[in-house]
Amino acid sequence: MKPRPRPLPAPFPSATVYVTTSRPRADWCPDCKAWTRFAGDVLLLAEDGVSVVGTYNGCEICDEPAEGGAPRA
Ligand SMILES: [Zn+2]
Repeated sequence: MKPRPRPLPAPFPSATVYVTTSRPRADWCPDCKAWTRFAGDVLLLAEDGVSVVGTYNGCEICDEPAEGGAPRA
């Protein structure tokens, strides 16, 4: 009785990319009138280099959602 061949695990795709974020940097919040905001870059790490695909930001006091929230008047 022969052992059954095991199915091989799926290989990683050759174009493996990673999405990460840079360190947030302090930013001025006009509402708090203080350096309570933070902003950073969303980075895409691929085999051919790193590219910035977006940004994120917010305020630790106001805590405004950067996206998906209703615009403030
Ligand atoms: Zn604020």
